Amino acid sequence: MSDVIVIGGGIAGCSTALFLAADGVDVTLLERGDLNEQASGVNAGSLHVQIQHEPFVRYGDPWVRQYLPALAFYRYAVDLWEELDEQFEHRLEFSRNGGVIVAATDAQMRDLEAKARLERDAGLGTELLDSAALGRIAPYVSGDMIGGAYCPIEGKASPLKSTSTLATAAESAGARIVRQCEVEQIARTADGYALSTSRGNYEARRVINAAGIDVGRIAAMLGAELDIQAFPIQLSVTEAMPPLITHLLYSAANLLTLKQSHAGTVLVGGGWPARLDETGRPRVCLDSLAGNLEIAAEVVPALRNSRLLRSWAGVVNGTDSWLPILGELPGSPGFFVCYVPWMGFTGGPASGRIVASLAQGLSPPVDFDLEPFAP
Ligand SMILES: Cc1cc2nc3c(=O)[nH]c(=O)nc-3n(C[C@H](O)[C@H](O)[C@H](O)COP(=O)(O)OP(=O)(O)OC[C@H]3O[C@@H](n4cnc5c(N)ncnc54)[C@H](O)[C@@H]3O)c2cc1C
Repeated sequence: MSDVIVIGGGIAGCSTALFLAADGVDVTLLERGDLNEQASGVNAGSLHVQIQHEPFVRYGDPWVRQYLPALAFYRYAVDLWEELDEQFEHRLEFSRNGGVIVAATDAQMRDLEAKARLERDAGLGTELLDSAALGRIAPYVSGDMIGGAYCPIEGKASPLKSTSTLATAAESAGARIVRQCEVEQIARTADGYALSTSRGNYEARRVINAAGIDVGRIAAMLGAELDIQAFPIQLSVTEAMPPLITHLLYSAANLLTLKQSHAGTVLVGGGWPARLDETGRPRVCLDSLAGNLEIAAEVVPALRNSRLLRSWAGVVNGTDSWLPILGELPGSPGFFVCYVPWMGFTGGPASGRIVASLAQGLSPPVDFDLEPFAP
């Protein structure tokens, strides 16, 4: 019998296991495949804090109001990334030069102004940029852009290196990690939970559900319903270029995130839809590829001279509210949910720290209210 079982070996599960083991808790992590094979290993590595422009515009005021509590969560999340990167001698490849979102029209600029006001009220320090200021801080951006906004606390980290670094540290701190172990059923016992898996039975006093897009399926094993969604989306990377793009870059005109990696390659994404093949695997959609690259080159004209190296697809986990779901499942004492939709790479370590504390009956080391994130 373990004290705690964590289900899922992505960034959320591995972070949770690390914080529990470091706190001296006996913890076992069960992963269906190998670590970091799903969303945590195929994402764009953006560390987001600002309100994402697309839902801000699409859903409007009621959505924005209910989402505002997440801003404090993401501020904490990126601070924690910085701390972990120092602790692990910069192996997470964290850097924080801020995020820039550019506008091509007056209407987009007005949306950015409204969004920046809310972000400033939440302490994000977002500044509006006119075209001269944009040209000064981001000279690589096209002169066709009329302005933008700058959120100084955003950054990036490596999806290829981060989860494995955290998992190795968790094992060094005493966590057991069991791969190729799919949780198939869960039942309440007198003092915890019994888990039937593809590799036999496990028991634990407490369970943490960090199964990404499968969080809903796992919760349903205890009769609970959660609004968990899954969407295939895609990303591309160029060949290495000389250093050019210093920020995490977005566009208010269309779906776009752009950043240059430590190696010089440029990651081009933003959530363009991919497709599922007949076996349910995500595959790159060529129309999305063309649209994504076109908008990228409109914003950063130098990209027209770069060559595409690779495009790939993955499945992102979502919810309508975009709020993290963190805490004990009502009606299932000792069973916790650790889930960050859409931006779960950014929020992975923070969700792990928070849920690892809650599972020990401790107050998490945060200064914001967790109530809006309760399952
Ligand atoms: C293309 C793409 C780009 C993205 N870009 C960004 C970005 O730039 N910034 C950002 O913040 N976020 C980004 N995201 C979102 C982010 O990657 C995810 O939100 C995050 O990785 C979720 O982490 P997780 O640990 O919760 O889930 P996952 O990484 O999906 O891990 C869950 C794990 O649980 C395991 N599991 C599931 N069911 C079971 C079971 N029954 N038994 C045992 N194990 C099980 C799975 O095998 C998996 O390994 C992107 C996502 C995609 C797909």
